[in-house]
Amino acid sequence: MSDKSMLGMTNPKHKPEKVNILGTDYEIIETTANDEPRLENADGWCGYYDNQILIESNAFKHHQGGDVELLKTEYKKFIKRHEICHAFFNESALDDYNRNEQLVTWIARQFPKMLKAFEQVDAI
Ligand SMILES: [Zn+2]
Repeated sequence: MSDKSMLGMTNPKHKPEKVNILGTDYEIIETTANDEPRLENADGWCGYYDNQILIESNAFKHHQGGDVELLKTEYKKFIKRHEICHAFFNESALDDYNRNEQLVTWIARQFPKMLKAFEQVDAI
């Protein structure tokens, strides 16, 4: 048993994705708080020492009504964007920005709209 498996970090529910953040590869792992204690009080986690971004598989489990599957999918995408923003700030050594959850959440929420605006005017 490796150190990682003892910490519950090698039992992802899905095959990990990788994303390159400013030259550093981060693994994106969808898992649950049962397998990954770092998700006990959060739906997402950005690990700066192991470069792992964790996404809670059961996020949104308490939501009822509406198109729950669509909401789950969109919420997981939002969580993924949020944690990737943390990774960008971490790799940029912008620690004050990284600790600012309001800023990180704002970027995660608004980025799709910003991208659309940039694309509309050929600014990207
Ligand atoms: Zn955060």
